[in-house]
Order: sequence, then structure tokens, then C-alpha cells
Amino acid sequence: MSDIVPPPSNLFYQSRNRRPRLDRAEGVYMWDETGKRYLDGSSGAMVSNIGHSNPRVLAAMRAQMDRSTFGYRLHFENEPAEELARLVASLMPAGLDRVFFVSGGSEAVESAVKLARQWAVATGQASRWKVIARYPSYHGSTFGALALTGMALMTAPFSPMLREMPRIPAPTCYLDRDSLSMEERGLRYAGMLREEILRQGPETVLGFIMEPVGGASTGALVAPDSYYARIREICDEFGVLLIYDEVMSGAGRTGTFLAAEHWGIRPDIVALSKGFGAGYMPLGAMVADRRLVEPVLDAGGFVHGFTYAGNPLACAAGLAVIREVLDNDLMGNAARIGALLKSELTGLMARYPFIGDVRGKGLLLAFELVADRETMTPLPKAHDAYVRLVEHAYERGLIIYSRRTRGGREGDHFLVCPPMIATQAHVGEIMEKLVASLD
Ligand code: PMP
Repeated sequence: MSDIVPPPSNLFYQSRNRRPRLDRAEGVYMWDETGKRYLDGSSGAMVSNIGHSNPRVLAAMRAQMDRSTFGYRLHFENEPAEELARLVASLMPAGLDRVFFVSGGSEAVESAVKLARQWAVATGQASRWKVIARYPSYHGSTFGALALTGMALMTAPFSPMLREMPRIPAPTCYLDRDSLSMEERGLRYAGMLREEILRQGPETVLGFIMEPVGGASTGALVAPDSYYARIREICDEFGVLLIYDEVMSGAGRTGTFLAAEHWGIRPDIVALSKGFGAGYMPLGAMVADRRLVEPVLDAGGFVHGFTYAGNPLACAAGLAVIREVLDNDLMGNAARIGALLKSELTGLMARYPFIGDVRGKGLLLAFELVADRETMTPLPKAHDAYVRLVEHAYERGLIIYSRRTRGGREGDHFLVCPPMIATQAHVGEIMEKLVASLD
């Protein structure tokens, strides 16, 4: 931590912990007000996909600011929003071409669930309202998103106020110690969705929501290939909508625009945010199959909305972000640099027996610390590894992101997710600082 003790502040966030003040940021680096430099090894919270202070995005924002920054959508449409919707639709699986803008990930998830419900009502399926989610999972902190989120820490204080949705275990196949192959385990976890739909009564189930590559909840959890296809089949069997929460995995971070592309899956609704606005503006989107949207609009309209949704400045920023990703093949870079970083992290397992697992796709990567790799027994909670390692790295000028949750059990995982502009030299710097911190 920096030597500077910040003065008392009127600000508050989750805790009393204070951080140094941010002075400036450029590319993969950030500087605090003492001049200390940090490598942004987690892109904030997997947000700053194209790095900081990108000149093209800043120029696009300045140009838009000179024209207009806000026009309420019931009074005006705007060109950046239309253009961005067109570009996003062109990057989606066929048919997913209706784009609803929001200002963040929780809003995108709420919008997905509310569209799904209104589609069910509009098409004579009003008995369907349950959205099955996974445990653990993270879908946001507003009440609707929280009703899906599988993290007791986040939901417990609100339990009397929440209508919690049914949850099935996330496919933490790497923790299982049975005789099944990984692909068989994937099918076993997917089968839990079928069982849950039957238990709930298929006529009551509206949707299933999942993070295709886990984020803050499971630490870049990737399921075996078999899982993804089987989940889609089960949803189709019962007419259940498949919602992909790609708030963290989307916008190119895993090496493809949607993580869904790795498995050739076509979800019915996708939630995007984080890397979509990439830290330049609060921006998110709910992208839906037109066959869901049209009946809702025909039936009188989508009862939902946020004041700032689709504002021209946020959309101009988002448009420049996505263009920057496409024009510079940053998805290709995320795949290449991600593979390098993953192999370097995997290499650490020979040196540190307490690294139990390295996982993820593209630049959505994580490693997990354990007491015993054979049994995957977590470190004792009192160890506070998930706090201490982050602090050690912070001292050395490397920012990483940690949580202590996995598969309903406790476990310390660390997300290492630098911006998609990261180079081989940045990987070297991350590894050097990480090794010093682990030592
Ligand atoms: N879904 C996922 C998968 C996320 O990772 C997050 C944020 N960590 C959210 C939803 C919520 O996004 P926001 O904080 O922008 O509301």
C-alpha cells in the first residue's frame, strides 16, 4: 500500500478500507497520486478490456460531447445508439438482433429476466416465471439480479425481502473425485437442470441463467464441452429460455465476442456490460432473439426501462470500444496472450504445491490456492489468503482480483485478467510480480 494516508472522506463503499487515490491511467498501467505505478492485472473488475485512456475512444467521446450528451429516449433516438445496436447485432449468433441498452451488468440481467417474463405472458404461458440459476454464481446486486445470484454472502441479509429463484450446482467438475471422465461429469451437472425443471414443474419454469465462463463467483470456471450442448438441449426440451450472462465473459475477453461461440451455442438472451463500455462509460446491453421481443411489443410494449439507457455519449464510447477491438484484432490478442499467460500460470504449479488449479479462456483466467492439491482441500479461512496475496501484489504494483467462493464450498481464487491489449512483456511483468508476491 502507498504511504499516503488519505484524509477522512465522505465517501463510503463496502468497507472502511481505503485505497490510494487514482491520479491517471494509460494502457495497462495506473498511477496513484504518489506516482506509484500499478499494472492493471484484472482490468479493474474485468472491465477495462482495451486499456485506459484509449485515444480513439476519448476522441469519439469528445466529438459526441460537442453535439449532445443526453436525449431522453422517449423524445429522441440517436445515431450512436442505432449504430452500436447494428454493430452488436452483427456480432451475435443469427436471430439475436434486438438490442436494449442499459448502464450496467445488473441492469442487463434484470432486463433479460423481465423480457423473458413478458414474452411468456404475451404468448399465453403466464404460468412460467421461475428462472433457474446456479450456485455459486454472480448476476448483480439489484434485487432482481440478486434473486438469481448464488452467493450467500450477497443474499443473506436480504433473504426476507427476496424471492430467491431455484438454483442448481455450478459445474465444478475439477473438484469432483469420482471415476467419471470430465465430459461425463459435464453431462452429470447438466442433468441437474433437467431434474430441477421436473421438480419445479416444467410449466412454471421460464428460463435458465448461467455465466458461460464463470466470473467473480467461481473464478473463470469453464465446464467440459459436453455441458454446454446438453444444457441447450434440456432448455429446448421444456421450452425454457437460455439466458447467458456474458457481463464479464462477453465483448471479446475470452477470445471471441461472446464466450458462447466457443461451443457454438445460441442463447435466447445475452446480458453484456463491463468490457462493452470498457470503463469509458457505464454501458450494458440485453440482446434478445427477435422472436421474444416482437410478441412483447405487439402485446402493448416492454414494461421496463432506465432513464440513462441508450444515451448518445455512452453509446458513442461503446461504439469506439468495439471498433477498437475489431480493428486491432484484440480478440485474437486475448486468445494468444491468454494462452501464454495461462501456460505461465500453469507452470507455477511445479513451483508452488499450494496452487490447486489454473483455468479460464482467453484473458478470463484464474488460479486457485489450496491446502492440498490432491484432495483440493481449501486453505483455512483464517489464512485469509485471498486478501493477503492481493495485498502483496498491490504492494508490488500489480492489481489482481480475488474471492473466496467455489462450488458451494470455500476456496481462494484469483482472477488474472489484464486488458486485451496486453503484450508478452506485460505477461512477463505480471509473472515476475506474482512470483514475488507468492514467495
Ligand atoms: N453479471 C456478472 C457475470 C458479473 O460479473 C457482474 C459484475 N461483477 C454483474 C452481472 C453485475 O454487473 P454490475 O456490477 O455492472 O451491475
